[in-house]
Amino acid sequence: MKMKSFSRRKFIASASVGTAGALLSYKVPVYGISNKVPVSELALTGGKPVRTDDWLKWPVWDAEAEAPILSVLRSGNWYRARGTKVDEFEIAYAELIGARRALATASGTTALETALHVLGVDAGDEVIVSPYTFIATYNAVFNQKALPVFADTDQETFTINPHKIEEKITERTTAILPVHILGLPADMNRINAIAKKNGLVVIEDACQAWLAEYEGKKCGTLGDLGCFSFQNSKHIPSGEGGAVVGNDDELMDLCHSYHNCGRAYGKNKSEFRGYPFRGGNKRMMEYQAVILMSQMERAKRDADKRLENALYLNSKLKDIPGIIPYKLADGATRSAYHLYPFRYKKEHFDDLPREKFLKALSAEGIPCSGGYGPQYNDGLMEEALNSKGYKRLFSKQRLDTYREELKNLPDNEQLCREAVWFFQNMLLAERQDMDDIVSSIQKVYENRKQLL
Ligand SMILES: *Cc1c(COP(=O)(O)O)cnc(C)c1O
Repeated sequence: MKMKSFSRRKFIASASVGTAGALLSYKVPVYGISNKVPVSELALTGGKPVRTDDWLKWPVWDAEAEAPILSVLRSGNWYRARGTKVDEFEIAYAELIGARRALATASGTTALETALHVLGVDAGDEVIVSPYTFIATYNAVFNQKALPVFADTDQETFTINPHKIEEKITERTTAILPVHILGLPADMNRINAIAKKNGLVVIEDACQAWLAEYEGKKCGTLGDLGCFSFQNSKHIPSGEGGAVVGNDDELMDLCHSYHNCGRAYGKNKSEFRGYPFRGGNKRMMEYQAVILMSQMERAKRDADKRLENALYLNSKLKDIPGIIPYKLADGATRSAYHLYPFRYKKEHFDDLPREKFLKALSAEGIPCSGGYGPQYNDGLMEEALNSKGYKRLFSKQRLDTYREELKNLPDNEQLCREAVWFFQNMLLAERQDMDDIVSSIQKVYENRKQLL
């Protein structure tokens, strides 16, 4: 283990007896029940932090990305119809994800909008979606003038609870939009079975799940269409960008048309002239494509590294009282770890509020977040429901029951109160950096009384 500071050595040395005991059996938390001087002063209250080293800054890029960017610039062919780079990226990305086809888009949001449109999600429809997600998932449904209907979250897996889906189906429901949130695959076998039984389509929001796997198959290839994001914070970033992937040529041709102002594409080209479809400009630029192309190999290496470090964290954190690592859904075989999540049970920390825990951990040099809140309470739902369009599209009775249903997502609310996330860049560090994370949580646990 890397020794970084006097206080860190001191912490490890003086904590060793107590910590070893506590690690073997947390039934008697050594410092939790004694009035002895704490092993080490928490950084939040003026002690030395466990860690002062920086974490990897994101995004990272390889030198080999620079020449192709300049070459695109000098060619003057900056948009896809005048170049070949976006086409090349689509082929490479489809191969990376194990899909027959990929369509590059301007963003993950536009990828979702494209998939929803092409699969027939129309004004006045309902789409069943997980409430525990980035806001773009809700927005994409609203942008189709459809209603995002939330099925409650499974707290253990952080993903949509498949047992809560069927009760949400109405005659307006056309699609299920599971989100592989944080990189954790949703329970796709159950979701696909429900969709099939009820004649619904399935669109995967895989915008945080590059190279995540379900029964050994990549996320994004498990439903009718899958959507990805390459926004700056994502694992394969190009500032902005996205993709739709799928195995059905007819659907993928329509996706291409929709993202390119409705122009006919593929098989439709022989049949139609001009603009046979509705559409918009949701195209990726050539620059974005070359930046993405330079990352295809590193993406796989990084995914392996994150997996290795996350499994190590799981093995250590599960022994700390009140820290419950995520669980993979049935059938899920690999997370992408866009975030490393666990649940913080404050009752094991003498009711130390999560916000204090997060502050204490950050002060030790471990960046962390409480993650998503119940965003449906932020105002956007009412803003939509009170709009002219939604009042036209849905009966007052439906909008009223919908409002009531928003108040009945108890598992999601609890998860929003208890989740703790670490960021993906931290998982690209080394084993001893993971030990810093573990030591810091242990330190906060052992010294929690200082914060009460
Ligand atoms: C990032 C993200 C999106 C949207 O992607 P953008 O590229 O930012 O439009 C959608 N869903 C989830 C879960 C995301 O994390």
